[in-house]
Amino acid sequence: MNFDKSKRLFEEANKVIPGGVNSPVRAFKSVNGTPLFITKGEGAKMIDADGNEFIDYIGSWGPHLFGHNPLFIKNALTEALENGTSFGAPTETEIKMAQLVIELVPSVEMVRMVNSGTEATMSAIRLARGYTGKPKFIKFEGCYHGHADYFLIKAGSGALTLGVPNSPGVTEGNAKDTLVARYNDIDSVYDLFDKNKDEIAAIIVEPIGGNMGVVPAKKEFLQALRKLCDEQNCVLIFDEVMTGFRVAKGGAQEVYGINADLTTFGKIIGGGLPVGAFGGKKEIMETLAPVGPVYQAGTLSGNPLAMAAGVAALTHIKNNPDIYSELEEKASWLENAFKENLNQQNKNFAMNRVGSMSCMFFTETEVTNFDDAVKSDTKLYADYFHGMLKRGIYLAPSQFEAMFISTAHSNEMLEKTANAHYETMKEILG
Ligand SMILES: *Cc1c(COP(=O)(O)O)cnc(C)c1O
Repeated sequence: MNFDKSKRLFEEANKVIPGGVNSPVRAFKSVNGTPLFITKGEGAKMIDADGNEFIDYIGSWGPHLFGHNPLFIKNALTEALENGTSFGAPTETEIKMAQLVIELVPSVEMVRMVNSGTEATMSAIRLARGYTGKPKFIKFEGCYHGHADYFLIKAGSGALTLGVPNSPGVTEGNAKDTLVARYNDIDSVYDLFDKNKDEIAAIIVEPIGGNMGVVPAKKEFLQALRKLCDEQNCVLIFDEVMTGFRVAKGGAQEVYGINADLTTFGKIIGGGLPVGAFGGKKEIMETLAPVGPVYQAGTLSGNPLAMAAGVAALTHIKNNPDIYSELEEKASWLENAFKENLNQQNKNFAMNRVGSMSCMFFTETEVTNFDDAVKSDTKLYADYFHGMLKRGIYLAPSQFEAMFISTAHSNEMLEKTANAHYETMKEILG
């Protein structure tokens, strides 16, 4: 396989775009490579600038539940385009969009549209603070909630419960109201509540972690968070930017049977266009401007093209509830094929999967939190990644990302993937 044109384009891109990319993980840095420039996506396949064809398991990092460019989204976009690209005024499609989200996700009574997952989570935190009148919030190590300053915080060392900035440009002032607990460890949360009495506005959590590889929360853990938030007048925020409409039509909260107070969305909700949303209890949502005092706004929020794509995606989900059992079947087939092969090679790497999102960690021990995940052999993952790539399988260029299956992945493609996996593992494990 030849990547010459992509390599040339990457050199050119590096002169005018920092690192050649508009989002860091695309740069293939953690697998020690250079990114492929993509020219076309269709169904589960992607074609790069050199004309190589791949079976794609990134799906634009989550949005493509039905593969690339499905006809029903393309048609909706073409139709909307006829009438103009943006009005900065309300449209009927926005009502339809809100109604669909509310219908599919039972805990959501009202919803506000934004333009990315980052905007959704930062707005949800502001809203929770405004609603409760309290300054601090808890996040979990290894969970990702976009790149707002007060999320780019990691746990302080040792007994320190205060978070510390994770990136230059984030101030200690930003860090001081972010408390960091351990995922799946409820005692670490109780501890923070003890030390920050009546100061915690919200707990934000990925109910299925998808940004440290895939790490599902334990049900008792989420139940305990729910109970704690009820007792402490604290807003429980499920960040379902990745899991929303991915693991079930009602997201992870449907899988676990636990309702959040606020939920954030992104990725699938936009049908491939830049969309985010946050929604939840009416009483909380109505503290937002212009009804209430908590300010939040967006020039292109609820954009007609984005809403047309989003409505098409959510309508398809609503009308085809069977897609989730179909995805489960496909994903479990592939998981079993991978596991069988690992057995043959006398290896037992940790594998986590919920529906169509999964991750194989290059570590033998179970992965239930960030500390477990980072035990993975990332060098071995890089070898695996390149072995799969040259066999036509496009995986995330990092150990700590999910592998996504779409409804466009055919059984034949899954078999081809399993074979590529066998050959690659034989090659890299010797
Ligand atoms: C992707 C993601 C975000 C950020 O969304 P952007 O659209 O990239 O800003 C936030 N939270 C979770 C759980 C995500 O997976």
